[in-house]
Amino acid sequence: MTIAVYPGSFDPFTFGHLDILERSTKLFDQVIVAVLVHPTKTCLFGVDKRVEIITDVLRNKPNVSVENFNGLVVDFCKQRNSCAIIRGLRAVSDYDYELQISSINKQLSPEIETIFLMSSMQYSFLSSSIAKEIAKYGGDVSALVPPRVEAELRKAYGKREL
Ligand code: ADP
Repeated sequence: MTIAVYPGSFDPFTFGHLDILERSTKLFDQVIVAVLVHPTKTCLFGVDKRVEIITDVLRNKPNVSVENFNGLVVDFCKQRNSCAIIRGLRAVSDYDYELQISSINKQLSPEIETIFLMSSMQYSFLSSSIAKEIAKYGGDVSALVPPRVEAELRKAYGKREL
């Protein structure tokens, strides 16, 4: 049984994340979405809320689970018997950062592979930050995030209609 971990902040989970996740479930028997507890970064949604939202969005996917984690991704992978880390690549701007992280992870745990999936064209400019920015100013984010996330953004920014 092959298990992959898809780590990230997911603050909040977007259609870009969903696209990468769905494609990775075709490659692995099980995918664990690992929601990062950020010691330094301030997130709009707390980690428990992010886990709750993503669990709801992915409720019909049998080979996916959602958990929070803090610490090193490679340690989390070992605890879960996972052989791979999934990451998404959008523009060239993602490359430097992802190269650093994957090189460090390789040094720490050479047996764990980082698998990069290229973003689908329609999501290549989509980020959690962009979705939050649009929602904050009352814009329509229905093409960017799942309905549950849209509702949570509306609540978070105190608006009845986006
Ligand atoms: P992190 O803080 O770890 O970068 P994110 O939630 O921003 O967490 O992203 C998690 C992963 O999903 C990263 O690999 C990121 O590149 C990828 N990702 C984010 N948005 C998209 C998108 N629109 N298309 C493809 N991959 C994406």
